[in-house]
Amino acid sequence: MPVTARRTADLVARRILRTGFQWVSLTTLISLLTVAFFFLRTPQIAEPAYHFSYAAVSLCVLAAALFRYPRSLTRHLDTWDLSALALAGAWACAALSVYYCTNNENTAQKLLLVGFFVFMLGFYSRIGLLLTTLAALFATYAFLMVHGTDAPLLAMLISLSVFPVLLAFFLVTIRKRLVIGERRYVENLRLVRQLEAITRTDELTGLLNRKGFNEALSNALNHVERFGEPLSLVIIDIDFFKHYNDALGHPAGDKCLTQVASLLQNATKRAIDVTARLGGEEFALVLPGSDIEQAAQLAEQIRSAVNGANILHPQSPIAMHVTASYGCAQLHEGDDGEALYRNADKALYFAKQNGRNRVQCFTHQ
Ligand code: GH3
Ligand code: MG
Ligand code: MG
Repeated sequence: MPVTARRTADLVARRILRTGFQWVSLTTLISLLTVAFFFLRTPQIAEPAYHFSYAAVSLCVLAAALFRYPRSLTRHLDTWDLSALALAGAWACAALSVYYCTNNENTAQKLLLVGFFVFMLGFYSRIGLLLTTLAALFATYAFLMVHGTDAPLLAMLISLSVFPVLLAFFLVTIRKRLVIGERRYVENLRLVRQLEAITRTDELTGLLNRKGFNEALSNALNHVERFGEPLSLVIIDIDFFKHYNDALGHPAGDKCLTQVASLLQNATKRAIDVTARLGGEEFALVLPGSDIEQAAQLAEQIRSAVNGANILHPQSPIAMHVTASYGCAQLHEGDDGEALYRNADKALYFAKQNGRNRVQCFTHQ
């Protein structure tokens, strides 16, 4: 799969948002502990304090459930958005509970201010989420101000203006830097992945190289071990390729290798099958889920395709065109990757010995 900037950015954005959720959830739990602390300290607790504390706990549980099962609800809304809103609701309810507990708006407002910072840092990466959650906290703060104080309107407005000022400062300074850092991180990650992909790719044919083959074989071994499926390996070697190079030159040899590579790639249609160039004029197919009969059948199809491609070979002692030999082996109990490779190589050796341009299977006696 190509390493696109978009895919990497999406992955990183999701990882950052997940960390943001963890941070906000943890601090929300601390805010609930604050509520518990006031409950313990207050001898006579007003009825609404209970209601808001139950609501805060319920919203936390709801937020956790919505986060646990991510789903897209509409094109612009998913369960993570609702989870963030539920967490903001929990903070608001915790503050209201503290307010009704203490009968004083000061502590509750401080709690909301802390919440404001927490949500700014937690959800900076998704601006829509940031603004909606902060709006919920701001509305609660304004409610407490109107409800709890009889300060003049101007004093209230000055006090409320702290929020937009804080937000504007955060957006143009800290958030900007965080977003730049994130973009650089995404770009570095994409380059690292691209580099890793290059180290696994054969430059001439675009197939996996030896390193990629080794990794793919080891992944396939893990896969079949887990699912109890068969695993087969086919090794393919072009016949008399040295003669081909001698007759037509190295560049023509390179072209022949790319032609054979694309024939192999066209023949392996299942996404799980792996096509690799092991080196020189030798290729391999790793076929998880295929037994030896299926592997031999595929090898026969490829043999027909290579013959059918009719790539002129002026110096082949066995045909007018390029041919190849095929060795197939299936993983048997107790075999490791090396044993499988050895067996397929033995079968290839017999295919060469028996006249080339043929498929040979390794059989366990
Ligand atoms: P056999 O039928 O027994 O397999 O004989 P062969 O000539 O195919 O095998 P041999 O191992 O004797 O020769 C392989 C040749 O492949 C020798 C080398 O010049 C050529 N070769 C290896 N890598 C490349 C490459 O990247 N490009 C080209 N054009 N030739 C290559
Ligand atoms: Mg050869
Ligand atoms: Mg060879």
